[in-house]
Amino acid sequence: MTFLPFTQPSIDEDTIRGVTEVLRSGWMASGPQVLKFEAALGTYLHGRPVRVMTSATAALEIALRVAGVDRESEVILPAMSFAATANVIARVGAKPVFVDVDLRTRNIDLDHVERAITPATRALMPVHFAGLPVDMNRLYQIAQRHRLRVIEDAAHAIGSSWGGRPIGSFGDLVCFSFHPNKNITTIEGGAIATGDAGELQLIEQHRFHGIRKDADGNVDVALPGGKANMSDVSARIGLGQLPHLDGFNARRRELAAAYLANLATVEGLLLPAKGDEGHSWHMFAPLLCLQELRITRQEFIQGMRDRNIGVGVHYPAMHLFSYYRRLGHDEGDFPNAERIGRETVTLPLYPAMNIADVERVCDAVRHILGSPHR
Ligand SMILES: *Cc1c(COP(=O)(O)O)cnc(C)c1O
Repeated sequence: MTFLPFTQPSIDEDTIRGVTEVLRSGWMASGPQVLKFEAALGTYLHGRPVRVMTSATAALEIALRVAGVDRESEVILPAMSFAATANVIARVGAKPVFVDVDLRTRNIDLDHVERAITPATRALMPVHFAGLPVDMNRLYQIAQRHRLRVIEDAAHAIGSSWGGRPIGSFGDLVCFSFHPNKNITTIEGGAIATGDAGELQLIEQHRFHGIRKDADGNVDVALPGGKANMSDVSARIGLGQLPHLDGFNARRRELAAAYLANLATVEGLLLPAKGDEGHSWHMFAPLLCLQELRITRQEFIQGMRDRNIGVGVHYPAMHLFSYYRRLGHDEGDFPNAERIGRETVTLPLYPAMNIADVERVCDAVRHILGSPHR
Protein backbone atom coordinates (compact mmCIF):
# COMPACT_ATOMS: atom_id res chain seq x y z
CA MET A 1 0.00 0.00 0.00
CA THR A 2 1.26 3.46 -0.86
CA PHE A 3 2.09 5.90 1.93
CA LEU A 4 -0.85 8.08 2.97
CA PRO A 5 0.45 11.28 4.62
CA PHE A 6 -1.75 13.10 7.16
CA THR A 7 -1.82 16.15 4.90
CA GLN A 8 -0.70 17.16 1.43
CA PRO A 9 -1.25 20.31 -0.69
CA SER A 10 -2.87 20.16 -4.15
CA ILE A 11 -1.07 22.36 -6.71
CA ASP A 12 -2.41 22.41 -10.29
CA GLU A 13 -0.36 22.65 -13.49
CA ASP A 14 -1.60 26.16 -14.25
CA THR A 15 -0.13 27.35 -10.95
CA ILE A 16 3.20 25.69 -11.74
CA ARG A 17 3.24 27.41 -15.16
CA GLY A 18 2.30 30.70 -13.48
CA VAL A 19 5.20 30.40 -11.06
CA THR A 20 7.55 29.75 -13.97
CA GLU A 21 6.34 32.97 -15.62
CA VAL A 22 6.97 34.95 -12.44
CA LEU A 23 10.46 33.50 -12.20
CA ARG A 24 11.14 34.49 -15.83
CA SER A 25 9.61 37.96 -15.42
CA GLY A 26 12.63 39.43 -13.66
CA TRP A 27 10.57 40.50 -10.61
CA MET A 28 10.17 38.01 -7.77
CA ALA A 29 9.92 40.06 -4.56
CA SER A 30 6.65 41.81 -3.53
CA GLY A 31 5.11 43.25 -6.68
CA PRO A 32 2.10 42.89 -8.98
CA GLN A 33 1.29 39.30 -7.93
CA VAL A 34 1.09 40.36 -4.27
CA LEU A 35 -1.32 43.19 -5.17
CA LYS A 36 -3.44 40.78 -7.22
CA PHE A 37 -3.51 38.18 -4.46
CA GLU A 38 -4.49 40.77 -1.85
CA ALA A 39 -7.30 41.98 -4.11
CA ALA A 40 -8.51 38.41 -4.73
CA LEU A 41 -8.51 37.60 -1.02
CA GLY A 42 -10.37 40.85 -0.34
CA THR A 43 -13.02 39.89 -2.86
CA TYR A 44 -13.31 36.42 -1.33
CA LEU A 45 -13.79 38.10 2.08
CA HIS A 46 -16.68 40.26 0.80
CA GLY A 47 -14.61 43.40 0.31
CA ARG A 48 -12.53 43.40 3.48
CA PRO A 49 -9.07 44.96 3.08
CA VAL A 50 -6.33 42.31 3.25
CA ARG A 51 -2.55 42.48 3.51
CA VAL A 52 -0.41 39.38 2.99
CA MET A 53 2.71 38.41 4.95
CA THR A 54 5.40 35.76 5.05
CA SER A 55 3.46 33.72 7.65
CA ALA A 56 0.52 33.70 10.03
CA THR A 57 3.03 34.02 12.84
CA ALA A 58 4.19 37.35 11.37
CA ALA A 59 0.57 38.37 10.76
CA LEU A 60 -0.45 37.64 14.36
CA GLU A 61 2.53 39.53 15.75
CA ILE A 62 1.81 42.54 13.54
CA ALA A 63 -1.89 42.41 14.45
CA LEU A 64 -0.98 42.52 18.16
CA ARG A 65 1.27 45.55 17.59
CA VAL A 66 -1.39 47.32 15.52
CA ALA A 67 -3.95 46.62 18.28
CA GLY A 68 -1.66 48.41 20.74
CA VAL A 69 -0.79 45.32 22.78
CA ASP A 70 2.35 46.18 24.78
CA ARG A 71 4.32 45.31 27.91
CA GLU A 72 1.50 46.24 30.25
CA SER A 73 -1.07 44.15 28.36
CA GLU A 74 -2.66 40.79 28.94
CA VAL A 75 -4.04 38.78 26.03
CA ILE A 76 -6.48 35.91 26.55
CA LEU A 77 -6.02 32.79 24.42
CA PRO A 78 -6.86 29.07 24.53
CA ALA A 79 -4.32 26.70 26.11
CA MET A 80 -4.80 24.38 23.10
CA SER A 81 -3.26 25.68 19.88
CA PHE A 82 -0.03 25.69 17.91
CA ALA A 83 2.80 27.31 19.90
CA ALA A 84 2.81 30.40 17.63
CA THR A 85 -0.47 31.61 19.17
CA ALA A 86 1.14 32.06 22.58
CA ASN A 87 4.65 32.90 21.39
CA VAL A 88 3.63 36.03 19.49
CA ILE A 89 2.00 37.44 22.63
CA ALA A 90 5.20 36.85 24.61
CA ARG A 91 7.27 38.28 21.73
CA VAL A 92 5.52 41.67 21.90
CA GLY A 93 6.20 41.66 25.66
CA ALA A 94 2.62 41.05 26.77
CA LYS A 95 1.35 38.35 29.11
CA PRO A 96 -0.42 35.35 27.56
CA VAL A 97 -3.42 34.47 29.76
CA PHE A 98 -4.44 30.91 28.93
CA VAL A 99 -7.95 29.56 29.40
CA ASP A 100 -9.24 26.04 28.91
CA VAL A 101 -11.02 24.74 25.82
CA ASP A 102 -14.08 22.60 25.13
CA LEU A 103 -13.23 18.91 24.78
CA ARG A 104 -15.22 18.31 21.59
CA THR A 105 -14.94 21.61 19.69
CA ARG A 106 -11.36 22.20 20.97
CA ASN A 107 -12.30 25.90 20.91
CA ILE A 108 -11.77 28.43 23.69
CA ASP A 109 -14.36 28.14 26.47
CA LEU A 110 -16.07 31.54 26.43
CA ASP A 111 -17.32 31.12 30.04
CA HIS A 112 -13.69 30.94 31.13
CA VAL A 113 -12.84 33.98 28.99
CA GLU A 114 -15.19 36.25 30.92
CA ARG A 115 -13.59 35.16 34.20
CA ALA A 116 -10.04 35.74 32.94
CA ILE A 117 -10.60 39.40 32.04
CA THR A 118 -8.72 41.91 34.24
CA PRO A 119 -8.12 45.67 33.94
CA ALA A 120 -4.88 44.81 32.04
CA THR A 121 -6.65 42.73 29.37
CA ARG A 122 -6.24 44.38 25.97
CA ALA A 123 -7.22 41.68 23.52
CA LEU A 124 -8.78 38.28 22.98
CA MET A 125 -7.02 35.83 20.70
CA PRO A 126 -9.37 32.94 19.88
CA VAL A 127 -8.42 30.10 17.52
CA HIS A 128 -10.96 28.57 15.13
CA PHE A 129 -9.64 25.13 15.91
CA ALA A 130 -9.43 22.75 12.94
CA GLY A 131 -11.56 25.27 11.04
CA LEU A 132 -14.59 25.11 13.35
CA PRO A 133 -15.56 28.72 14.09
CA VAL A 134 -15.72 29.97 17.66
CA ASP A 135 -19.20 31.28 18.62
CA MET A 136 -18.74 34.67 16.96
CA ASN A 137 -21.86 36.27 18.43
CA ARG A 138 -20.79 35.57 22.00
CA LEU A 139 -17.12 36.32 21.31
CA TYR A 140 -17.79 39.80 19.94
CA GLN A 141 -20.41 40.51 22.63
CA ILE A 142 -17.75 39.85 25.28
CA ALA A 143 -15.20 41.96 23.39
CA GLN A 144 -17.62 44.87 23.06
CA ARG A 145 -18.76 44.72 26.66
CA HIS A 146 -15.15 44.90 27.90
CA ARG A 147 -13.80 47.15 25.08
CA LEU A 148 -11.26 44.58 23.92
CA ARG A 149 -9.59 44.13 20.57
CA VAL A 150 -9.99 40.70 18.95
CA ILE A 151 -7.17 39.08 17.01
CA GLU A 152 -8.58 35.92 15.47
CA ASP A 153 -6.05 33.15 14.88
CA ALA A 154 -7.77 31.88 11.74
CA ALA A 155 -4.75 29.83 10.60
CA HIS A 156 -7.07 26.81 10.21
CA ALA A 157 -10.09 28.74 9.03
CA ILE A 158 -9.64 30.12 5.51
CA GLY A 159 -12.98 29.31 3.87
CA SER A 160 -14.75 28.66 7.18
CA SER A 161 -17.92 30.65 7.78
CA TRP A 162 -20.24 31.68 10.59
CA GLY A 163 -23.93 32.18 9.81
CA GLY A 164 -23.07 32.09 6.10
CA ARG A 165 -20.41 34.82 6.37
CA PRO A 166 -16.78 33.87 5.72
CA ILE A 167 -14.43 34.09 8.69
CA GLY A 168 -12.41 37.26 7.99
CA SER A 169 -15.29 39.02 6.19
CA PHE A 170 -16.34 40.53 9.53
CA GLY A 171 -14.75 41.02 12.94
CA ASP A 172 -11.64 42.89 14.04
CA LEU A 173 -8.16 41.63 12.98
CA VAL A 174 -8.28 38.17 11.39
CA CYS A 175 -5.07 36.28 10.61
CA PHE A 176 -4.74 33.42 8.12
CA SER A 177 -1.93 30.96 7.33
CA PHE A 178 -0.92 29.61 3.93
CA HIS A 179 1.62 27.08 5.17
CA PRO A 180 1.54 23.88 3.03
CA ASN A 181 -0.39 22.03 5.78
CA LYS A 182 -3.21 24.58 5.74
CA ASN A 183 -6.33 24.60 3.53
CA ILE A 184 -4.61 26.64 0.79
CA THR A 185 -0.90 27.37 0.49
CA THR A 186 1.63 29.92 -0.76
CA ILE A 187 4.47 27.65 0.54
CA GLU A 188 5.01 29.98 3.50
CA GLY A 189 2.54 32.82 3.91
CA GLY A 190 -0.13 34.54 5.93
CA ALA A 191 -2.58 37.43 5.80
CA ILE A 192 -4.43 39.95 7.93
CA ALA A 193 -8.00 40.94 7.10
CA THR A 194 -8.97 44.04 9.03
CA GLY A 195 -12.19 45.74 9.98
CA ASP A 196 -10.45 49.13 10.09
CA ALA A 197 -8.98 50.35 6.78
CA GLY A 198 -7.43 53.21 8.77
CA GLU A 199 -4.98 50.69 10.25
CA LEU A 200 -3.74 49.39 6.87
CA GLN A 201 -0.85 51.83 6.73
CA LEU A 202 0.31 50.69 10.16
CA ILE A 203 0.11 47.05 9.07
CA GLU A 204 2.19 47.90 5.98
CA GLN A 205 4.78 49.73 8.07
CA HIS A 206 5.17 46.82 10.48
CA ARG A 207 5.44 44.50 7.48
CA PHE A 208 8.22 46.45 5.74
CA HIS A 209 10.81 48.29 7.83
CA GLY A 210 8.40 50.98 9.07
CA ILE A 211 8.76 52.73 5.73
CA ARG A 212 6.30 55.45 4.76
CA LYS A 213 6.47 57.34 1.47
CA ASP A 214 4.93 60.74 0.88
CA ALA A 215 3.37 61.92 -2.40
CA ASP A 216 6.75 63.13 -3.69
CA GLY A 217 8.34 59.75 -3.02
CA ASN A 218 10.32 60.89 0.02
CA VAL A 219 11.02 57.98 2.36
CA ASP A 220 10.55 58.14 6.11
CA VAL A 221 10.83 55.39 8.72
CA ALA A 222 7.83 55.91 10.97
CA LEU A 223 8.47 52.99 13.33
CA PRO A 224 11.04 50.18 13.71
CA GLY A 225 9.17 47.77 11.45
CA GLY A 226 10.26 44.26 10.62
CA LYS A 227 10.32 42.39 7.32
CA ALA A 228 7.41 40.14 6.55
CA ASN A 229 6.47 40.96 2.96
CA MET A 230 5.37 38.08 0.71
CA SER A 231 7.24 37.28 -2.53
CA ASP A 232 5.51 37.43 -5.91
CA VAL A 233 6.29 33.72 -6.37
CA SER A 234 4.30 32.87 -3.24
CA ALA A 235 1.50 35.25 -4.19
CA ARG A 236 1.22 33.60 -7.63
CA ILE A 237 0.80 30.22 -5.93
CA GLY A 238 -1.92 31.73 -3.74
CA LEU A 239 -3.67 33.12 -6.82
CA GLY A 240 -3.68 29.59 -8.27
CA GLN A 241 -4.99 28.10 -5.01
CA LEU A 242 -7.78 30.51 -4.08
CA PRO A 243 -10.23 29.52 -6.87
CA HIS A 244 -10.03 25.92 -5.58
CA LEU A 245 -10.59 26.81 -1.91
CA ASP A 246 -14.36 26.23 -1.72
CA GLY A 247 -14.03 22.97 -3.67
CA PHE A 248 -11.16 21.81 -1.45
CA ASN A 249 -13.19 22.54 1.68
CA ALA A 250 -16.33 20.82 0.33
CA ARG A 251 -14.17 17.76 -0.29
CA ARG A 252 -12.75 18.00 3.25
CA ARG A 253 -16.32 18.07 4.62
CA GLU A 254 -17.26 14.94 2.64
CA LEU A 255 -14.20 13.07 3.89
CA ALA A 256 -14.79 14.20 7.49
CA ALA A 257 -18.42 13.05 7.28
CA ALA A 258 -17.20 9.66 6.07
CA TYR A 259 -14.77 9.45 9.02
CA LEU A 260 -17.49 10.42 11.52
CA ALA A 261 -19.93 7.81 10.16
CA ASN A 262 -17.34 5.05 9.91
CA LEU A 263 -15.76 5.60 13.33
CA ALA A 264 -18.98 6.27 15.27
CA THR A 265 -19.09 2.67 16.59
CA VAL A 266 -15.42 2.41 17.60
CA GLU A 267 -15.06 2.28 21.36
CA GLY A 268 -12.33 4.28 23.03
CA LEU A 269 -12.41 7.13 20.51
CA LEU A 270 -13.80 10.59 21.24
CA LEU A 271 -14.68 12.06 17.85
CA PRO A 272 -14.42 15.81 17.14
CA ALA A 273 -17.56 17.99 17.02
CA LYS A 274 -19.43 17.69 13.73
CA GLY A 275 -19.97 21.40 13.07
CA ASP A 276 -22.02 22.56 10.09
CA GLU A 277 -21.42 23.83 6.54
CA GLY A 278 -19.19 26.56 7.97
CA HIS A 279 -16.60 24.02 9.18
CA SER A 280 -13.62 23.85 6.83
CA TRP A 281 -12.15 20.67 8.41
CA HIS A 282 -8.52 21.74 8.40
CA MET A 283 -7.88 18.43 10.17
CA PHE A 284 -9.65 15.40 11.60
CA ALA A 285 -8.34 14.67 15.08
CA PRO A 286 -10.16 12.26 17.41
CA LEU A 287 -8.98 11.62 20.97
CA LEU A 288 -7.78 8.17 22.02
CA CYS A 289 -9.45 7.55 25.39
CA LEU A 290 -6.24 6.17 26.85
CA GLN A 291 -7.80 5.14 30.16
CA GLU A 292 -10.17 2.76 28.36
CA LEU A 293 -7.69 1.54 25.76
CA ARG A 294 -4.83 -0.82 26.52
CA ILE A 295 -2.48 1.01 24.19
CA THR A 296 -0.31 4.14 24.35
CA ARG A 297 -0.53 6.92 21.77
CA GLN A 298 2.96 6.10 20.59
CA GLU A 299 1.93 2.47 20.00
CA PHE A 300 -1.11 3.66 18.05
CA ILE A 301 1.00 5.97 15.89
CA GLN A 302 3.54 3.18 15.29
CA GLY A 303 0.71 0.81 14.34
CA MET A 304 -0.51 3.32 11.74
CA ARG A 305 3.03 3.84 10.41
CA ASP A 306 3.43 0.07 10.07
CA ARG A 307 0.40 0.26 7.76
CA ASN A 308 1.96 3.14 5.81
CA ILE A 309 -0.40 5.78 7.21
CA GLY A 310 0.87 9.12 8.53
CA VAL A 311 -0.50 10.49 11.81
CA GLY A 312 0.07 13.92 13.38
CA VAL A 313 -0.20 15.30 16.92
CA HIS A 314 -1.94 18.71 17.04
CA TYR A 315 -1.07 19.89 19.62
CA PRO A 316 0.61 19.48 23.02
CA ALA A 317 -1.03 21.88 25.52
CA MET A 318 0.97 25.11 25.26
CA HIS A 319 1.13 25.95 28.98
CA LEU A 320 3.13 22.77 29.66
CA PHE A 321 6.05 23.76 27.41
CA SER A 322 9.10 24.68 29.48
CA TYR A 323 8.93 28.40 28.61
CA TYR A 324 5.32 28.70 29.79
CA ARG A 325 5.96 26.53 32.86
CA ARG A 326 8.64 29.07 33.81
CA LEU A 327 5.89 31.72 33.71
CA GLY A 328 4.14 29.73 36.45
CA HIS A 329 2.03 27.09 34.73
CA ASP A 330 1.76 23.43 35.69
CA GLU A 331 -0.16 20.22 35.14
CA GLY A 332 -3.77 20.49 36.22
CA ASP A 333 -4.22 24.15 35.17
CA PHE A 334 -6.31 23.39 32.05
CA PRO A 335 -7.59 19.79 32.19
CA ASN A 336 -9.28 19.69 28.78
CA ALA A 337 -6.31 21.16 26.91
CA GLU A 338 -4.03 18.72 28.75
CA ARG A 339 -6.21 15.73 27.90
CA ILE A 340 -6.35 16.77 24.23
CA GLY A 341 -2.57 17.26 24.31
CA ARG A 342 -2.07 13.71 25.62
CA GLU A 343 -4.70 11.89 23.56
CA THR A 344 -5.11 13.65 20.22
CA VAL A 345 -4.13 12.02 16.93
CA THR A 346 -4.57 13.67 13.53
CA LEU A 347 -5.69 11.24 10.83
CA PRO A 348 -5.09 11.87 7.10
CA LEU A 349 -7.39 14.51 5.60
CA TYR A 350 -6.71 16.50 2.43
CA PRO A 351 -8.63 17.20 -0.78
CA ALA A 352 -6.78 14.69 -2.99
CA MET A 353 -7.92 11.79 -0.77
CA ASN A 354 -10.91 9.65 -1.67
CA ILE A 355 -13.45 7.68 0.35
CA ALA A 356 -11.48 4.46 -0.13
CA ASP A 357 -8.53 6.15 1.61
CA VAL A 358 -10.80 7.06 4.54
CA GLU A 359 -11.95 3.42 4.74
CA ARG A 360 -8.37 2.24 4.69
CA VAL A 361 -7.53 4.56 7.61
CA CYS A 362 -10.64 3.50 9.55
CA ASP A 363 -9.86 -0.21 9.04
CA ALA A 364 -6.38 0.40 10.41
CA VAL A 365 -7.77 2.31 13.41
CA ARG A 366 -10.22 -0.52 14.22
CA HIS A 367 -7.53 -3.13 13.88
CA ILE A 368 -5.07 -1.33 16.14
CA LEU A 369 -7.73 -0.50 18.77
CA GLY A 370 -9.03 -4.09 18.65
CA SER A 371 -12.51 -2.95 17.70
CA PRO A 372 -14.37 -5.49 15.51
CA HIS A 373 -15.35 -4.45 12.00
CA ARG A 374 -18.98 -3.50 11.49
C1 LIG B 1 0.01 27.04 11.45
C2 LIG B 1 -0.51 27.84 12.58
C3 LIG B 1 0.02 29.10 12.91
C4 LIG B 1 1.24 29.66 12.24
O1 LIG B 1 1.12 29.71 10.88
P1 LIG B 1 2.44 30.02 10.01
O2 LIG B 1 1.90 30.51 8.72
O3 LIG B 1 3.15 28.71 9.88
O4 LIG B 1 3.24 31.02 10.72
C5 LIG B 1 -0.57 29.83 13.92
N1 LIG B 1 -1.63 29.35 14.59
C6 LIG B 1 -2.16 28.13 14.34
C7 LIG B 1 -3.35 27.68 15.10
C8 LIG B 1 -1.59 27.33 13.33
O5 LIG B 1 -2.09 26.12 13.10
